[in-house]
Amino acid sequence: MSTQSFADLGLSEAFLRSVAAQGYDTPTEIQARAIPPLLEGKDLLGTAQTGTGKTAAFTLPLLQRLVADGHASRGGSRGRGQGACRPIALILAPTRELAIQIDESVATYGAGSGVSHLAVFGGASKGGQLSGLRRNPLVLAATPGRLLDFVGERAIDLSGVQTLIIDEADRMLDMGFIPDVRRIAALVENRRQTVLFSATMPRPVEELSRELLGEAERIAVAPEEITIDRIRQSVLHVAREDKPALLPELIRDRNMFRVLVFTRTKHRAARLAKALRKTGIDSDEIHGNRSQNQRQSALERFRSGRVQVLVGTDVAARGIDVDDITHVINYEIPHEAE
Ligand code: AMP
Repeated sequence: MSTQSFADLGLSEAFLRSVAAQGYDTPTEIQARAIPPLLEGKDLLGTAQTGTGKTAAFTLPLLQRLVADGHASRGGSRGRGQGACRPIALILAPTRELAIQIDESVATYGAGSGVSHLAVFGGASKGGQLSGLRRNPLVLAATPGRLLDFVGERAIDLSGVQTLIIDEADRMLDMGFIPDVRRIAALVENRRQTVLFSATMPRPVEELSRELLGEAERIAVAPEEITIDRIRQSVLHVAREDKPALLPELIRDRNMFRVLVFTRTKHRAARLAKALRKTGIDSDEIHGNRSQNQRQSALERFRSGRVQVLVGTDVAARGIDVDDITHVINYEIPHEAE
């Protein structure tokens, strides 16, 4: 955490109140360093991962600029139902969960600002998203594939986008989305501000950022800014065949109250959740074989405490933000240890 206050960063009264309403008293490092240049409209390359507070770092200045430029007040009268949706800001995210989470952050931090917003993502029917697009939201949080589908169908027109934010660029790379991201960036031809966040900087991401950002400001923050000191870690050496019996025992004996379990494959996630349920432990699963509705409702049940254990693959569950998780178990050596 930095010693600066949010008021030092140039945020307006309205957004200071919205930050205070979240209970944040001090900006995180990425917030302290990214918010001032972003408010000035600068391009930015941020090396920061989930848990550093990066979502607020890009969302707050985006919202403040939209309000200052007078876009928000036009929100209601932007030609509802006429032609394509023309967003002013576009945030790209690699997974549907992340797109939804970013959209929720826009809603939370922008409450009362009049900034309209929508998440569009694959794996869910288009109907609901299409009717959302007809309201012509100012801010879109989107996964690349579905966004391009809508652009192809002329439901979205990206030529009015002024701010393009690419979140978790390295994960986009892992998922094969970089060509789509390039295509989208080319469609956002009139953009004035480009922001890219990535936890790591593999060469293709470095190249992409050079193409899109040139000599933009670079900010790198150490990982796990918020949480690492508070996490106690331990390793149990267990033969594979003993794991299924040990897990429910551990969960019970150690009073694990809200547990996230990671497996390597979708199959194993499903099998493990089922096995846990058989032992009487409320569990659900989140992985790529489940529909968007199933994933969202599993996450909601986990958030609300109705489900004690959520089993997932790291691909599906990365970046998920749930308060008060008591334990994280890597049932298998993770692809993605962070
Ligand atoms: P993120 O890295 O954006 O996924 O944020 C990680 C978590 O940190 C979220 O639960 C945020 O609500 C929380 N958070 C963001 N900024 C702050 C802050 N300044 N102080 C305390 N918590 C924060």
